[in-house]
Amino acid sequence: MMRNLAAHPDPLSLNTATVRERWTLPQIIEGCARHNIRAIAPWRDQVAACGLDTAANLIRSHGLRVNGYCRGGMFPAADAAGRAKAIDDNRRAVDEALTLGAECLILVVGALPSGSKDIAGARQQVHDGIATLLDYARPRGMKLAIEPLHPMYAADRACVNTLGQANDLCDALGAGVGVAVDVYHVWWDPLLEREIARAGRHGRILGFHVCDWLVPTSDMLLDRGMMGDGIIDIPRIRGWVEAAGYADCIEVEIFSANNWWKRDPDEVLQVVRDRYATVC
Ligand code: ZN
Repeated sequence: MMRNLAAHPDPLSLNTATVRERWTLPQIIEGCARHNIRAIAPWRDQVAACGLDTAANLIRSHGLRVNGYCRGGMFPAADAAGRAKAIDDNRRAVDEALTLGAECLILVVGALPSGSKDIAGARQQVHDGIATLLDYARPRGMKLAIEPLHPMYAADRACVNTLGQANDLCDALGAGVGVAVDVYHVWWDPLLEREIARAGRHGRILGFHVCDWLVPTSDMLLDRGMMGDGIIDIPRIRGWVEAAGYADCIEVEIFSANNWWKRDPDEVLQVVRDRYATVC
């Protein structure tokens, strides 16, 4: 869903993982209200811990948008029973997203089943899994957002690793599926500008996530940086995304076990606000 900046002058959104270690979801919702953050992207485990209906009511009563719900995906499995179980779980994620009023379900698509070396097969399973889920999500009006992940996660989290791959999948799958562009995962891609433009031509950019790539990075999963502390040229990529017609939320998503997760979340949100204004 495209919205223009005039209608939403402050598109800052908080991915709730950013403060997940010290705050529960209700505390995060209160914190966003204090810091005038008007959109969130919550995670399924945090919603489950709080209770789905309670979470939906709190989000509504605070007037927050849910620009994305984290997450569905993880489609590949070693056998048919495993793949069917994954689809069932994804259908539940779609139902939860609908209850929360989320604008899309983010997909971390999954990777090699344990014991497998067949990445082409895993990618086929991802295609087939999303196609099956689309039959459920499309008539209910819940969009699916494929988030390509950095190739360092190709074995265990997502075997869709470039925006080009995600665009190819969207071309093959048709309406109801788009992409989430996370600078952490795609900043290095020499084809990034072209593929962002391609996604824009189809109106399929459903999310834009920001954090930073630290040098050196000490942990593959949990050492993401605050915007401005690393080497990603965020304004340049934001410019490409906006030139492609995207004028919606800019979602701050920071997994940082040894730094930001340890700090007072009120301080973290203040820094997020400041960096958003000065760096993004
Ligand atoms: Zn992301």
